[in-house]
Amino acid sequence: MIYLDHNATTPLDPAVLEEMMPFLTAEYGNPSSLCPGGKRAAAAIARARDQVAALLRCAPDEIVFTGGGTEADNAALRSALAVGLAATGRRHLVTTLVEHSAIRNLGRALEREGVEVSWGPVGTDGVPDVGWLADRLRPDTALLSVMLANNETGVLAPVAELAAIAAAKGVPVHTDAVQAVGRIPVYPAELGVGMLSLSAHKLYGPKGVGALYVSRRVRFRPLLIGGGQEDGRRAGTENVAGIVGFGKACELAAAWLESTPATGRETGPQSGPQPGPVPAAGPAALAALRDRFEAGLVAAIPGTAVNGGGGSRLPNTSNLSFAGVAGDTLLTLLARQGLCCSAGSACATGSPEPSHVLTAMGFDRGRAKSSLRFSLGRTTAAAEIDEALALVPRLAERVRAG
Ligand code: PLP
Repeated sequence: MIYLDHNATTPLDPAVLEEMMPFLTAEYGNPSSLCPGGKRAAAAIARARDQVAALLRCAPDEIVFTGGGTEADNAALRSALAVGLAATGRRHLVTTLVEHSAIRNLGRALEREGVEVSWGPVGTDGVPDVGWLADRLRPDTALLSVMLANNETGVLAPVAELAAIAAAKGVPVHTDAVQAVGRIPVYPAELGVGMLSLSAHKLYGPKGVGALYVSRRVRFRPLLIGGGQEDGRRAGTENVAGIVGFGKACELAAAWLESTPATGRETGPQSGPQPGPVPAAGPAALAALRDRFEAGLVAAIPGTAVNGGGGSRLPNTSNLSFAGVAGDTLLTLLARQGLCCSAGSACATGSPEPSHVLTAMGFDRGRAKSSLRFSLGRTTAAAEIDEALALVPRLAERVRAG
């Protein structure tokens, strides 16, 4: 299988699994319990908190573990609205039209609860309109929430710029950084955001665990009420193994972000098939591999366009439209041949609707429905890209010919 769907999820790193195993077996203590096993579990969580904090360069007590990115997003928005409402009666939220469904559908649900939501547009490059968003920030705005990296296109939003504008207007800021953390350096203090969501399974950790960064200067109201876990910020017995794996995944991600290719050999177009998988060492090598993949397809398939290719992007994501080719048919044929990618986001798979992200970028239904997302990963090898470059044009031609 050639796995080019890392934005949907990443494989568990073997070193992460190894770290988790004891906490799925012999080390079953409840971290809130004072017995020795409980204390060891609590210590393991403390270490994981340090590892996550080190990746984000924040204080460990600014990390609240959650059941994933979706929960972190829900916790952030609900907290900001609860705090804003209690303090100053704020009931207004500003976000964008290209958010992941964790924010998008939550925003819609909040609208039904009486919250006013302003949905910011993006340009054809996929970048949110800073001026539009800035104009919508009002004294009764409880939160500005803008995703850092788009899950469909990889396009990066100018979150630091927006956060500076919001700070001047006294509006708190959250960013959904689920796709960005572990792929590019992400430091909430540098971005100037008060809250930031992340998820373990996008960075070679386990599913069902994530975190919300909550700056010390932000007042927080918990989403889940119950026991005093997470310093009263997220009730419920901790997913110890998941959190331990998440911590290890963050440690590995920090090392990967700093790594550079040993020779550059892995990514050169002239390098030819490699004897075995040669993973992309570091973000620059990964971006070079992605760029070679894109350039190869643009050259081989007439009518191919890169969606969101104009500005800054994640190093691993390639969203391409193939004029006159039904994306879902191509996706199915590719899957049969063992190449895994996706049409839009994994959460929208099977939906007859065109991608809301591509639609917001101004693309018509035809272009949106002829688009596929290929997302590379740390373990994607040059040889796999060579194979994909042979396969995709052949099958695209077949779909186009009907
Ligand atoms: N936000 C973004 C941008 C995502 O891509 C995803 C997952 O696809 C999520 C949030 C949800 O994260 P999780 O799957 O951990 O709930």
